[in-house]
Amino acid sequence: MGTSAKLSTKILKQSATGSLFAHRFVGSSNGPCVALVSGVHGDEWYGPASLNKLIKMLKASDLSGTVIVIPAANPLALAEHSRLDPTCPLDLNRSFVFDKATSPSEHNPLAKLIWREIADADVILDVHSCGVDDCVDHVRMLKEFDSLATSLGVSRALVFEKWPSGLLIDQAFRSGKRALALEFGTSGSLSLRKGKTLTKALMAFLGATKSIPNKEGSRKTPKVAYKHTMAPVEASGIFEQKLPPGLRVKRGDVVGTIRCFQDGESIEIQAPVAGDLLMVRKTGPIGVGNSACTIV
Ligand SMILES: [Zn+2]
Repeated sequence: MGTSAKLSTKILKQSATGSLFAHRFVGSSNGPCVALVSGVHGDEWYGPASLNKLIKMLKASDLSGTVIVIPAANPLALAEHSRLDPTCPLDLNRSFVFDKATSPSEHNPLAKLIWREIADADVILDVHSCGVDDCVDHVRMLKEFDSLATSLGVSRALVFEKWPSGLLIDQAFRSGKRALALEFGTSGSLSLRKGKTLTKALMAFLGATKSIPNKEGSRKTPKVAYKHTMAPVEASGIFEQKLPPGLRVKRGDVVGTIRCFQDGESIEIQAPVAGDLLMVRKTGPIGVGNSACTIV
């Protein structure tokens, strides 16, 4: 094991209202290259709050290999507390696709700047807070369960067969990296106690990657789902959440209602299958095709 890590901080994009920073810690002994990213959506604050604490802790850590930390990937969105960057309203987490055949015609240009910085990582963890949904804290992977997920200490894991293209972890997975996303906490809110839990979980994750000495020991394996069912709705209006995530539902249970924008009619949204509610849309506006819940 080496002595404390060398830190170099780069500004990937300079702006008076919010610059994009990347912090690269290099240890004095060999080890993996791990990238931790958060703040891709500007209304999700657990990741940025915890990664900024982690930066301080890593300064004093006995580090092997390299750890790259990008705590505020979408700085203008974070400055405005909005999901998307008001000057570039293209979802950053749909912009990480760079091959010519499948690239969207318009990209959020931050995606390329971020990818260039973390392209040499072996492991990429992208921290989110569930966006427009309330959810059970969970970790997401593609194709197969990655044992690194266990270190994060969440009760649930969801393995996807396929992701929408443009996700940071999709790009990472297709580039041959171990790629995980963590959905932790709720967007638009921040509890300091819960934030501490995340900081500890991220340190345990770096212990599991062997970037830092593992002080935490092993964690409980999450309950893994390889299948999930979403519930896209056919009306737009105000969704009222009736059942919170974490509950077990039967097929046909009313998860929420939509009061339609057009005529004020109320429509009940039922659970399409039986199972556990992993995510339920927050009370608020919903549009045609948006999912009211995710059941595993
Ligand atoms: Zn997000």
